[in-house]
Amino acid sequence: MGITIDCSTVASTDTHGLGDWRGTCGAGHATVRHRRPRAPMECRACVRAGAPHATALLRWTYRGRQVPMPSAYRTAERQLLAS
Ligand SMILES: [Zn+2]
Repeated sequence: MGITIDCSTVASTDTHGLGDWRGTCGAGHATVRHRRPRAPMECRACVRAGAPHATALLRWTYRGRQVPMPSAYRTAERQLLAS
């Protein structure tokens, strides 16, 4: 199971170097976090709209770069996408 977070609260927080981790869903919503997500998360706006997991799943970059996620994360991601 993924964790849903609210994409709509992002806009004003991504300044002053806050939010190194940026997650983007398949529909183009973005959210930022200060720490690496430990489990796959889905975009709340997409979940509310009934989007499939593949769309709602947030893909993360760290300071603008794609970085490898831990194997536990990837396993959970695969399970989410298969559910
Ligand atoms: Zn979304």
